[in-house]
Amino acid sequence: MSVTSDARTSELTDDEIRTQVREWLVAHLPKEWVAAIEAGDHAALAKVRSSLDTEQFLADLGESGWGAPTWPVEYAGAGLAPPQARIVNDELNRFQVPRSWNIIGIGMGGPTILQWGTEEQKAKYLLPMVQNKEIWCQLFSEPGFGSDAAGLATRAVRDGDEWVVNGQKVWTTFAHVAKWGLLLARSNPDVPKHKGLSYFIVDMKAPGVEVRPLRQMTGDAEFNEVFFNDVRIPDADRVGPEGEGWRVATTTLMNERVALSGAGSTGGQNVGGGPADELVRRARESGAWEDLVLRDRLVGQLIEARLIKVTNLRSAAARRAGRQPGPEGSVTKLVQAEHNQRLQELAVDMLSAGGTAWTGGDSAAEAQAVRGFLRSRANTIEGGTSEVMRNILGDRVLGLPREPDPSRELPWSEVPRN
Ligand SMILES: Cc1cc2nc3c(=O)[nH]c(=O)nc-3n(C[C@H](O)[C@H](O)[C@H](O)COP(=O)(O)OP(=O)(O)OC[C@H]3O[C@@H](n4cnc5c(N)ncnc54)[C@H](O)[C@@H]3O)c2cc1C
Repeated sequence: MSVTSDARTSELTDDEIRTQVREWLVAHLPKEWVAAIEAGDHAALAKVRSSLDTEQFLADLGESGWGAPTWPVEYAGAGLAPPQARIVNDELNRFQVPRSWNIIGIGMGGPTILQWGTEEQKAKYLLPMVQNKEIWCQLFSEPGFGSDAAGLATRAVRDGDEWVVNGQKVWTTFAHVAKWGLLLARSNPDVPKHKGLSYFIVDMKAPGVEVRPLRQMTGDAEFNEVFFNDVRIPDADRVGPEGEGWRVATTTLMNERVALSGAGSTGGQNVGGGPADELVRRARESGAWEDLVLRDRLVGQLIEARLIKVTNLRSAAARRAGRQPGPEGSVTKLVQAEHNQRLQELAVDMLSAGGTAWTGGDSAAEAQAVRGFLRSRANTIEGGTSEVMRNILGDRVLGLPREPDPSRELPWSEVPRN
């Protein structure tokens, strides 16, 4: 059963949406799974988990429309408004089902293709993306151009119906497993930097694409360097008009900030240490709550977590009213990143010596907290640094004078660089 029914899903009531999602889950999960959820039996759920064919489940979830509930029904979505989509996500969370980890695809690539892509691109890319069958990566940052991504140097030169790409990208999350990349490249070096960019979908397995993993301080290698040597991209895989790549990239970046500002990769749940409520629970259990300084820090984080939630609700209301993600994504991206770092520090502090003398395999709780602490250092860099978020907020929200950029109106080829 899929949501491509004759009734427009956005006209369903909240209860009808909840019932449809539940019925779909009951039809696609082992019956022991459903029984364990209804009974709140964690042990039974752990036992039945391994019997689920996760790949097949994610493919079915994508096909059903519940995997990207705000996308249009004709493009692998359910056509729901953001508050209705939250009901879908709440129900999926309640059943503790596996979710797609294709976050760059679903969170950033999908919205960009929906806004700027051709009908052919929407038909070709969106369904396998939401089914977790084709993983996506984002190829914007370069060794010399991170915060100033509009200054990037990777070149795309037109050759008939194709483009030939040469250059290097860096910090490319998931490039080693990706089928497709969202590539920003310079198609015209003789105009100012924001005007000479074009945006492409690149096949990460095409001849001339070389991916080299980079190891992080957590020990993981989730991102990579990517080299392009005479890589050919059909013009049909250009997204948006030639030379308008920066506007297309802005859609990707706005959606990235929204993805990173909620329960995305910076969420305490995902990187270990636990969100504020969970830390309070642990502090009460261990007696650390009686330490007044620690309690003060915990309460501060609880308040911050509530404020982030309220701001996210406001941003969802703006999107419901038909507005694209705007600077409010930068507010929550900035605050969520710094909030998560404070939470992770608290989680390690609460372990006392266990947090500093951790040797790698002592206990699951310690390992998770230390890993979360190390991973959280990236939160204020990935998706735009905190300094850059503050600049954006200064300009676009507070109306302060724009940061001077002497290279802004110069042809890119004449901008001094080392
Ligand atoms: C975990 C992780 C995953 C990532 N994944 C991807 C990915 O998948 N794809 C991708 O394209 N990129 C990715 N990035 C790259 C990320 O977007 C860049 O690291 C980020 O934009 C900063 O760029 P930079 O590293 O070149 O630092 P720089 O831009 O060189 O900045 C260095 C320092 O200068 C400060 N600074 C720079 N400009 C200004 C300014 N105008 N005003 C004030 N301060 C300034 C910065 O805040 C920073 O402290 C990832 C990064 C991380 C950490």
